[in-house]
Amino acid sequence: MKSRYEAVIGLEVHTQLATASKIFCPCATTFGAAPNSQTCPVCLGLPGALPVLNRKVVEFAIRAGLATHCAIAPRSIFARKNYFYPDLPKGYQISQFELPICVGGFLEIETEGGERKSIGIARIHMEEDAGKLLHPADGSGCSLVDLNRAGTPLLEIVSEPDLRSADEAVAYLRKLHQTVVYLGICDGNMEEGSFRCDANVSVRLRGETKLGTRAELKNINSFRFVKQAIEYEIERQIDLIEGGGAVVQETRLFDSAAGLTRSMRGKEEAHDYRYFPDPDLVPVLVSEAWIDTVRAELPELPDAKIERFTRSFLLSRQDAEVLAAEAALAGYFEATVSAGAGPKAAANWIMGDFIRALNDSGLPVSEAPLPPQHLAEMIRRIEDGTISGKIAKTVFQEMWESGEEADRIIEAKGLRQVTDTGAIEQAIDAIIAANPEQAAQYRAGKEKVFGFFVGQVMKATKGKANPQAVNDLLKQKLSRD
Ligand code: ADP
Ligand code: MG
Ligand code: ZN
Repeated sequence: MKSRYEAVIGLEVHTQLATASKIFCPCATTFGAAPNSQTCPVCLGLPGALPVLNRKVVEFAIRAGLATHCAIAPRSIFARKNYFYPDLPKGYQISQFELPICVGGFLEIETEGGERKSIGIARIHMEEDAGKLLHPADGSGCSLVDLNRAGTPLLEIVSEPDLRSADEAVAYLRKLHQTVVYLGICDGNMEEGSFRCDANVSVRLRGETKLGTRAELKNINSFRFVKQAIEYEIERQIDLIEGGGAVVQETRLFDSAAGLTRSMRGKEEAHDYRYFPDPDLVPVLVSEAWIDTVRAELPELPDAKIERFTRSFLLSRQDAEVLAAEAALAGYFEATVSAGAGPKAAANWIMGDFIRALNDSGLPVSEAPLPPQHLAEMIRRIEDGTISGKIAKTVFQEMWESGEEADRIIEAKGLRQVTDTGAIEQAIDAIIAANPEQAAQYRAGKEKVFGFFVGQVMKATKGKANPQAVNDLLKQKLSRD
């Protein structure tokens, strides 16, 4: 019965811009400062204070628009969105309405089935964030207002209703998140609310072209919750319709503890925002020359990077995706290769030991105690036979902990691979002599015993014997006499 329906989803994403100051005043935007310490007459909404637009906000909006293939409006308008709430001292939010800065773009996602799908972006507009209400559980019954966040610049990125499942919505959201972080316009910190999403969800019978009535799920701030909230909502709407009811247009809140959505306000209680152009702000004029400058400075985006990594370094698509997931990680990989490491080996070490060490230490790539040059040197030492791949794990760990270069560690700890066949032969002779039974078994055709001998030789040489030499010599010696 459920398969008769299809879900239709459109997302409105709020991204906090990583500018040093607010959108219309010079106050700082640092997260977590003492309440109301980052405020001035403009963001407090005091009478007579006038807003002045932060140029960086417009530049960031152009960046986002270009990266998502939008048209950048040569002229856009700030409008007042009127409503009353204690965290909004002016009684209106400055936003954009009829003439937003970016329109008509798209973002490409990969669906569950591995196909690429283009999701339309209807518009991107600039606006200011509101303050924050705190409700301390101290029994006082008071609510407190912190206006540090009031006036923090936001981009609202509105998708077309092109998404057809919770998984597609999450794929789109991840891609958008990755894009704004790559662009350097948002820190992407979802716990701090830097990237949050409203999900509009409706269902309809397959084959139907008209949109169903939608519910809007407000302010979801994790990928997991977006998936849960949308899945719950799709089920709820289908059950409702199947039971003879109808979906009503309303705003709903996702209760993550209970795993369900609850009605917050219906259409009747919806605000009439009485939008009108803000008379305190002039139209935003963006010249072709400015757009060209911003375009020229755009960083390489994940899709382009993945394509280049597979082409120039012959990496698998999967490896390229892991490395390109974060700009800093991709940069680290390229620096390791530039410093002389083979791309495949560099990729493997970075995706394995390096990422594990980062995770264990909780450090970002930029603060890794291991410079890419050191990792490259270590990889070269494996490639030229100075150390074995196994010993390299020890060298890696030492480099990470001490910050020393690979060569110094190899020398200081005597980790050089033993390629001196004389020394390996001596060890082999002693081991064969000490294990005549196993030697006889091998010679009688029990090939598995070979591994036992390799292990013994490695143990005797503390793992430093060249594995190829050990193999070759063991074969010779065991088949002799
Ligand atoms: P509003 O400003 O009232 O939130 P919009 O028309 O701007 O409304 O749409 C907001 C978001 O809702 C967009 O992402 C859009 O794609 C999505 N949307 C609109 N209608 C539907 C629908 N029937 N089902 C699902 N999503 C929808
Ligand atoms: Mg909306
Ligand atoms: Zn201010």
